[in-house]
Amino acid sequence: MAKVYNWQLGREMEYRFEGGAAKRQFAAVFNINRCIACQTCSMACKSTWTFSPGQELMWWNNVETKPYGGYPNHWDVNILELQEKANPGGQVWDPATKDPKTAPYGRFDGKTIFETADGVNSIATGYIPPEADWKAPNIHEDTSTVVPAGGASLPEHSGWFFYLQRICNHCTYPACLAACPRNAIYKREEDGIVLIDQNRCRGYRKCVEACPYKKSMYRPSTRTSEKCIACFPRVEATDPLTAGLPMETRCMTACVGKIRLQGLVQVDANGEWLEDRQNPLFYLVHVAKIALPLYPQFGTQPNVYYIPPRWVPRPYLRQMFGPGVDDAIAAYTNPTRETLAVLQLFRASQRIVFEYRIEQGPKTGELNVGGQKREIFNDTIIGLDSNGGEIVRVTVDEPTAERPGQLNSL
Ligand code: SF4
Ligand code: SF4
Repeated sequence: MAKVYNWQLGREMEYRFEGGAAKRQFAAVFNINRCIACQTCSMACKSTWTFSPGQELMWWNNVETKPYGGYPNHWDVNILELQEKANPGGQVWDPATKDPKTAPYGRFDGKTIFETADGVNSIATGYIPPEADWKAPNIHEDTSTVVPAGGASLPEHSGWFFYLQRICNHCTYPACLAACPRNAIYKREEDGIVLIDQNRCRGYRKCVEACPYKKSMYRPSTRTSEKCIACFPRVEATDPLTAGLPMETRCMTACVGKIRLQGLVQVDANGEWLEDRQNPLFYLVHVAKIALPLYPQFGTQPNVYYIPPRWVPRPYLRQMFGPGVDDAIAAYTNPTRETLAVLQLFRASQRIVFEYRIEQGPKTGELNVGGQKREIFNDTIIGLDSNGGEIVRVTVDEPTAERPGQLNSL
């Protein structure tokens, strides 16, 4: 095993290969607070990539209701239990050991899935879900925890649920890739997208076993494993719709709730993000710090980030997103003028925004948030493409249209 640096854990860790770097990295931010679980993203993906025989149980994009739902069933509880069994009581963070660049969430003092495996018989701790666990992708939809007598309370609800949107994280240190005995899985240097070479794959399912997020799936009709391919023709700008410009994936562009923003970020040899202040993803993850990785303690350095749901009890969220949760929710609940503008970029364009500019607008209102006075300004955010050309322009205030006194149907 080699030693690599995992900035989400604030420390070095063991991994099968050196580095994990790409020149640019596919990344996304999902705002859990806005998802309505319409499953348009799931259907956009399925109707594009997994509609053929043998793919019936495959949902490369799925949206599950937490805390009870999961696709496959209980995937995260199962991995957390395996890790806890391997390192009882030791899966803890030291949030005090913080560095803004190299350890923004503190240091994880527990063991990753690579460190609880023996490295010989198994590269990463995991399991292969039985077929039955893939058959009910939206089990426990909208099922809340028990609401105690007396009703819900704020700011954390005592009875709660939320939707978790999931795709392959195109991890910097992919467990699927490390576990493959055929070296059939590779990570592309140009965009960090993780793919399975269908000619090399022999369907041993080591990737299915190793991926902690269970985003590599077995297809019985071809006896190979398949996974999300990040709609790479769109990201590569070879889709006819793109006019030569990198484009967001199907699940991102179809999102009805406007909860998704996808991009390509610049990274160094450790997968650490290079300073790129005006990139909207860099801003949300590294400047505003309102978007966090999913189960960073697994150690794969996932590249999909989540704005955590405000109403959910913090201990649950800290286990899921790490110790950055409290600061992220505070920053999202009381956003700065810049954050409010950047949040308008979600699903505003099908093309990938590489840079943004903000034009300041007039004050249009005042709010009281948690006892603090907040002023609202109608700023305009401008999204630029990979060549610096303008592709989108959105205002903080949503334009409204007044219906005329007389309808044209009368
Ligand atoms: S989420 Fe799973 S399938 Fe995707 S790159 Fe990471 S380890 Fe591999
Ligand atoms: S399309 Fe968007 S709002 Fe609808 S379920 Fe998917 S992520 Fe949620």
